[in-house]
Amino acid sequence: MICLGIESTAHTFGVGIVTDKKKVLANVRDSYTTKTGGIIPSKAADHHVEVFDKVVRQALEDAKVGWDDIDFIAFSQGPGLGHTLRFGGIVSRTLALLKKKPLVGVNHCIAHLEIGRMLTKAKDPVLLYASGANTQIIAYDGGKYRIFGETLDGGIGNFLDTFARELGLGFPGGPKVMALAKKGKNYIELPYVIKGMDTSFGGILTNVKQKLKSGKYKKEDLAFSLQETVFAMLVEASERAMAHCEKDELLLGGGVACNTRLQEMCAIMCKERNAKSYVLANEFNVDNAAMIAWLGIEMYKAGIRTLLEKAIIRPYERTDDVLVKWRNN
Ligand code: AMP
Ligand code: MG
Repeated sequence: MICLGIESTAHTFGVGIVTDKKKVLANVRDSYTTKTGGIIPSKAADHHVEVFDKVVRQALEDAKVGWDDIDFIAFSQGPGLGHTLRFGGIVSRTLALLKKKPLVGVNHCIAHLEIGRMLTKAKDPVLLYASGANTQIIAYDGGKYRIFGETLDGGIGNFLDTFARELGLGFPGGPKVMALAKKGKNYIELPYVIKGMDTSFGGILTNVKQKLKSGKYKKEDLAFSLQETVFAMLVEASERAMAHCEKDELLLGGGVACNTRLQEMCAIMCKERNAKSYVLANEFNVDNAAMIAWLGIEMYKAGIRTLLEKAIIRPYERTDDVLVKWRNN
């Protein structure tokens, strides 16, 4: 069985082709980037309009398959930016109609967790999903993927991107902040904001902006301190979720999971509690369509289909809105 998956929740338009034997035949993506400003939803959608045909063709070429080999199409139904999701939805429905393929709409956040279970030995991990717009700690419990902690304002990636923007660096800013942080040596105290299991970044951002403007601190030290602070918040909440759920596996997902310092901090925490920490290759951390195709396969095998007339986008879909029919443990 072969599934073609389509990703379009935000900056990335991706097409992935995956088999039910867990083979990733193609994972092509083209992402909207800027030199200085942040992500503008309508511009990101314009980008997807420009590149989608090239990305679809490249994926089929990489996978060395034709449309006759594709059994069905899976697409990111939500959550995400309305502008970009809508375009991905149009492409998916049009292809399903033209090529006469069944369609499966999938939840993007859950796809991050399922590709981790597929690519690693993790069986039932807690997912620390740290991406641009999303920051959630997710684990399977009672037939659903529940959110055990999440950001109360923006996503951690957007927070890093905004800090980078203050420094005049472009989007995505996360990798640039990481490079800068490696040069920082002095820890500058910042607010540490964790409420119950939830985190918040807005106040920290204001504080860092003020420190930046004061001219008293080196930007390298601020980048370093910022990472140490916000990553510690995420690791703390993840550890408590693991303790509460009695799970001994942690999986990192989302674009910020590419950060080597965050990876290191998760590994240390897991080692201290005799748990395992799993990190994926960067191409599966960032938004990608291989994960959409793989979750599509799991759902399709469980008998789930999305009728064309019901294949509307769900920009605000929550992880725990989805009934998980494809897991039996
Ligand atoms: P996603 O939305 O999951 O594709 O992730 C995109 C986000 O990941 C953006 O906010 C990036 O700045 C961030 N990101 C990518 N690489 C890194 C990195 N090495 N360190 C921190 N953030 C990163
Ligand atoms: Mg994502």
